[in-house]
Amino acid sequence: MIQTVLTQAVAASRPAAELGQTASYIPELSKVDKHHLGACVFTSDGGRYSAGDTKVRFSIQSISKVISLAVALELCGFETVFAQVGMEPSGDAFNAMGKLEAAGSSPSNPMINAGAIAVDSYLEPKISFDRMLAFTRKLCMDPEIGLDEKVYHSEMSNISRNRAIAYLLENKGVIRSDVERTLDFYVRMCSLSVTAESLAGLGLLLAGGGICPATGERLLSPDTVRVVKTIMLTCGMYDGSGTFAVQVGIPSKSGVGGGILSVVDRRMGIGIFGPALDGKGNSVAGERVLRHLSQQLHLHIFDAD
Ligand code: GLU
Repeated sequence: MIQTVLTQAVAASRPAAELGQTASYIPELSKVDKHHLGACVFTSDGGRYSAGDTKVRFSIQSISKVISLAVALELCGFETVFAQVGMEPSGDAFNAMGKLEAAGSSPSNPMINAGAIAVDSYLEPKISFDRMLAFTRKLCMDPEIGLDEKVYHSEMSNISRNRAIAYLLENKGVIRSDVERTLDFYVRMCSLSVTAESLAGLGLLLAGGGICPATGERLLSPDTVRVVKTIMLTCGMYDGSGTFAVQVGIPSKSGVGGGILSVVDRRMGIGIFGPALDGKGNSVAGERVLRHLSQQLHLHIFDAD
């Protein structure tokens, strides 16, 4: 049943790639074939379902904000993480900085660049990038996840806007550690290369409250996972989060590499790769796949059955 619905969802959504474009702010992302589409569902009873390009590696980009937030909650604690970063949807683009200028304002949430850079500034002094990479591999049950050097260097040479955000945050006292080290850590996390399968693995771990489905080891606390899933639901799909919550109703986080990480609580993790993006930065075909799955399998968070 799940395999049939998934195969149909991918086939029906493929043509939607024509409606979008790959991210264009660095050549490495714009060069990706926009017709890729893959979707993977891992279920809590051990099912593994795949359709399309689920083994193709791509850039995790903003989906890494979920991992950074989770690890920051574990290592720094809720009070520190949310002392100066909010929990409200911003309604603005992911890299917006206009509102930050206002006196007394702080980043709206940890899923936009300003919030994620602030969170990384609390995290970076506590954990090396290499340990983050090793932990990410465990969270995703994918030992092959690595740093895409080309994406990393390209991002670092297009860092002006994020650098401006970070120094503004330092000026406001939101960042108190080394800004350049924070930016390097943030960009490395965005430059990890994953597959739809890796994201389904991470989704299943979050669906199960933080326990690794493969080993039974607890990797994240239930409190951390509850916060992360709630922020994904309210803020995970850029400024399309509200519409997505109504239409799909599955806590998700997208990235401009074309990935979407989705969590059907207690039941499944879903990973998608479809690099053609809509105007808000979300995978056009990926969103369609999720809408289809949500409708056919009754996955909306408020579905009765
Ligand atoms: N590396 C991108 C940036 O920081 C991430 C964008 C995204 O996936 O939202 O601008």
